[in-house]
Amino acid sequence: MVCIHNLGFPRIGAQRELKFALESYWRGDSSLTDLQAQGASLRRQNWQRQQGLDRVPVGDFSYYDQMLDMSARLGVLPARAHRQGAHALDDYFRAARGRAPDASVGVAAGQLTKWFDTNYHYIVPELSAATVFSLHADDYLEQVREALSLGVPAKAVLIGPVTYLYLSKGLEGEARAALLPRLLPVYQQLLQALHELGVEWVQIDEPALVTDLPAYWWSAYEQAYRVLPASGPKLLLSTYFAGLRESLQRVCLWPVQGLHVDIVRAPEELERILSAWPLDRVLSLGIIDGRNIWRSDLDACLDRLEPIHALRGDRLWLAPSCSLLHVPVALADEQGLDAELKSWCAFAQEKLGELQVLAQALRDGRAAHAVALADARQALAARRSSSRVHDARVAAAMEALPALRSQRLSAYSQRRQVQRQHLQLPLYPTTTIGSFPQTDEIRQLRSRYRRGELGEIDYTRLMQAQIAQSVALQEKLGLDVFVHGEAERNDMVEYFAEQLQGFAFSSQGWVQSYGSRCVKPPLIYGDVWRPRAMTVAWAQYAQSLTRKPMKGMLTGPVTLLNWSFVRDDQPRRSTCLQLALAVRAEVLDLEAAGLRIIQIDEAALREGLPLRRADWPAYLQYAVQAFAVAAHGVEDATQIHTHMCYSDFADIMDSIIAMDADVITIETSRSAMQLLACFDERSYPNEIGPGVYDIHAPNQPTAEQIERLLEEAARRIPAERLWVNPDCGLKTRRWEEVLPALATMVQVAQRLRRQAQPA
Ligand code: GLN
Ligand code: ZN
Repeated sequence: MVCIHNLGFPRIGAQRELKFALESYWRGDSSLTDLQAQGASLRRQNWQRQQGLDRVPVGDFSYYDQMLDMSARLGVLPARAHRQGAHALDDYFRAARGRAPDASVGVAAGQLTKWFDTNYHYIVPELSAATVFSLHADDYLEQVREALSLGVPAKAVLIGPVTYLYLSKGLEGEARAALLPRLLPVYQQLLQALHELGVEWVQIDEPALVTDLPAYWWSAYEQAYRVLPASGPKLLLSTYFAGLRESLQRVCLWPVQGLHVDIVRAPEELERILSAWPLDRVLSLGIIDGRNIWRSDLDACLDRLEPIHALRGDRLWLAPSCSLLHVPVALADEQGLDAELKSWCAFAQEKLGELQVLAQALRDGRAAHAVALADARQALAARRSSSRVHDARVAAAMEALPALRSQRLSAYSQRRQVQRQHLQLPLYPTTTIGSFPQTDEIRQLRSRYRRGELGEIDYTRLMQAQIAQSVALQEKLGLDVFVHGEAERNDMVEYFAEQLQGFAFSSQGWVQSYGSRCVKPPLIYGDVWRPRAMTVAWAQYAQSLTRKPMKGMLTGPVTLLNWSFVRDDQPRRSTCLQLALAVRAEVLDLEAAGLRIIQIDEAALREGLPLRRADWPAYLQYAVQAFAVAAHGVEDATQIHTHMCYSDFADIMDSIIAMDADVITIETSRSAMQLLACFDERSYPNEIGPGVYDIHAPNQPTAEQIERLLEEAARRIPAERLWVNPDCGLKTRRWEEVLPALATMVQVAQRLRRQAQPA
């Protein structure tokens, strides 16, 4: 009988119970005992939700993040997080967020970084040459005991030692890999302890195996997986998010008792795995998509699985492709999606149901489970042929795409002349990135409008008043290029997604982003179409209030794509280009409405890079093409800006250049312009606004700091091509901070301007 299992379950709770319990504890409104009781109850609920699986992951629960859990268990939480006599969980929260409710003095919070190519963020372990590991796994072992005592068929889950070191910081890669001999004995000890509890299988996650690894990481892997399999429990070495590619043969030589592979992301690898992985060892196939929310094609799964099952029998295991942490909990209470859309979707709980159907059909034959299979088949067929998915207008527009190859009518050097004449901007033009502080008043206006307590006319009038206020402030500050302030937007993706055909919104589709934070990504289920203008009225109104150029403000196609759950029935590239066409329609309308500058934000371009270098060109090709499509056909006189929340462009410089935005604004103030090195005069031909005001910190920038940053920038980029602006949008800040900071920024720009062009 085939074994079905799961790699990890969302721990935040279907109603985000963990989020609320954590935040209440952090605020001091509830006790540690309350929090731990909520934790225990969520674990029990999750194990119950996974009933029917042959092996249930245990140890995947976390109060903040699984990497931080490992750091605590390995005894390497940063020393600054420890407080004499504090509860271990408070030290843990201090390591995560700088604060715990037990003391008022904060420490530096741990660094958050994205977990591979997901939107889940982990706390980066801080290691040094002096790091000593020691086992502190009582809480973990207690969770395992808890599960076993409840009769849960527990499979313990751990992050593997090499991935742990690979994702750490504090030492160069090779020096981190060199810590492995100190780390392995602690893993051995932990595995031994699990063995003593009676745990048969341990799932040891090594997703670093699907990245491009230098030789020293391979040596570390060889060392680890020759030793660990003899520590007691059987090991299921788990990889996900991509295929093993050229490393497959090598991994097959390690004496682990089982291997999990992601055949949703790397279906092409299955044949090679089947011939390379020995028949007498467990092969776990990640066949249900753990990264998306669509129902699976069960017929197609069975077509592939039946022959494998015939050969491997109970050494074949089935699972979601990766931990279900990356999808919402359950569809049951979903209210945002209509019945038809719901019938196309599978959240974590429903995905486990799909696994059960697969296992049963393999055991009893398809005929015995014809009803369940027919139901899945019907849903899929309905989705495939639905008129909500396919729109002939979009298909026609996509046909015409090849004609939209080059973005602008003339080359940048030509456009620059025309734009100079039209815009008449001074040297060192000053601007902001788009949003202004989202005050309580603004939030209330939006939510009253949403709830229907405020009519369209009143809402428009009140929002216009907000715009008028922000324009007046910008006049007073003396900025050169204005923004309307984005008061009407709750989120830079959701605002557009709500107005585009092809998107839907769930009410319960929460996915953990970091700590207690969750996001609810929109779903792209069908062809994307812009039925009407989305931003023009606000932008036009804002422009009518001033003679200064107002920037029309849009979210770019790649960012809309990367921050949504996307269709799985066509390549991401096609969806991205459909989004680009929708953005383009808006760009052209803004231009026709008299906006002379349009900014297309691509905040998420870099994070969409595939895990393997070899896959970068294909992604970057369509990302650049999408930008070109979005800006295609605008007049030379219209200035196109883009904004990106980072400046590590060294390895994607060619693509940034190819986007050919007239102006790019980026984040640089925290890195003190170091990262601008790749933006030297030779390499970046157009205009740049390197951020000079770190909007992520509450500190006020001083005139000296801003001046130093600009001088530094001017050494690399000629002054005629430099803009002066903050790092990112200002929506999370307060006006009391923003006003003096922008005033200083403008003063510095004006001073530099006078120095360069004495009157
Ligand atoms: N225009 C957006 C804003 O200012 C950009 C946000 C972002 O880059 N994340 O809020
Ligand atoms: Zn930004």
